[in-house]
Amino acid sequence: MTATATATSGIGVTCRGVVYIYRLEGYHVVALSGVDLDIAPGEAVAMLGPSGSGKSTLLSVLAGLLPPAAGRVVVGEHDLARASAGQRRRYRATEVGVALQGADRNLLPYLTAEQNVRFAQRAVPADRRRDLPPPPEVLALVGFPVRGRLRRCPAGLSAGERQRLALAVALANRPRLLLADEPTTRLDQTARDEVLAALASVQDAGCTVVMVTHDPAVGARLGRTVTIRDGRVGAEGRRGEDYAVVGRDGTVQLPQEALASTPPGTLLRVHPEPDGTIRLAPDRREGR
Ligand code: ADP
Ligand code: MG
Repeated sequence: MTATATATSGIGVTCRGVVYIYRLEGYHVVALSGVDLDIAPGEAVAMLGPSGSGKSTLLSVLAGLLPPAAGRVVVGEHDLARASAGQRRRYRATEVGVALQGADRNLLPYLTAEQNVRFAQRAVPADRRRDLPPPPEVLALVGFPVRGRLRRCPAGLSAGERQRLALAVALANRPRLLLADEPTTRLDQTARDEVLAALASVQDAGCTVVMVTHDPAVGARLGRTVTIRDGRVGAEGRRGEDYAVVGRDGTVQLPQEALASTPPGTLLRVHPEPDGTIRLAPDRREGR
């Protein structure tokens, strides 16, 4: 029964050369500097990367919260770089679910679990609201213990339960794309596994899932990882294999292990081999 009421058809994501700049007084921060990324409908992707690399900014752009300064962002049939503020608001209300970093930021402390989900459904336009699943079904989808915890406020829940409640709030509008920022951070192993199982159920229900994490072990559980470094996609991992990504300007970011022996500024000779392999040979001559 949950499978049908909460079932959805996921939407795909296309990013081309996405730039985002925080304009502060006196200086600007280029948080995204040309993100190229394709996510298929129904796919689950973990976004990895060091702190400050642009993961949360990219999530906010995909959420329709921040309009990119340049580039193309298309989610399903929505061209977010061109959309008006009103179109982006409707996109947020109907197509996308967002769980911000830190479960509590997504929850109203004086409402019960059930009321939190119901409250989130109020933002959905009236013409779509009657098709939404009842809150207990949304909570059951993410493995929230509906027997016993439905009428508890966030303060009466464990950290893992609060995080799954935050996911249920994000899913309240039956989105076709779920964005979750660090949903497993500061959880113990059991709670982390429960959150990952919740995300797997959401994907099984048809929804596209994008999760931010700084933990490579958590990321690997989603099947596909995308590593953001310095505001762009530096590497991808699929089924445990790591790949560097060639950027639109031809640049390649070396993996961390390779940087240990080739620090920034190292001269590399590039040798394309007949079999398609490309060898990078550091220049070790004296005086360098
Ligand atoms: P991550 O989520 O990977 O840690 P963020 O997307 O939060 O990275 O940040 C990317 C860059 O943008 C960082 O240099 C950060 O300092 C900067 N940044 C993030 N949010 C803001 C903001 N609200 N105002 C100014 N700079 C910001
Ligand atoms: Mg972040």
